[in-house]
Amino acid sequence: MPAPQRPPAYPPDAGLCRACLHSRLVLSARGSVFILCAAPPEHGLNKYPRLPVLQCAVFTPNRPRPKDDVE
Ligand code: SF4
Repeated sequence: MPAPQRPPAYPPDAGLCRACLHSRLVLSARGSVFILCAAPPEHGLNKYPRLPVLQCAVFTPNRPRPKDDVE
């Protein structure tokens, strides 16, 4: 019996995206986790930001750091 799979967690090097309202986790078919920036397109941000994002004028905090993050 296979072990139950954990839901994807934010990569530890995600920077500001980890706690941003606009970030979404995307799980690839190979099991890799990516961060999708879903900020409105008029901001001109990359859809898949280069991590870590340390400065972002569009950053909008929406939640505390996820509990399942490991550093
Ligand atoms: S708005 Fe900035 S901080 Fe938020 S998800 Fe996009 S790139 Fe990351």
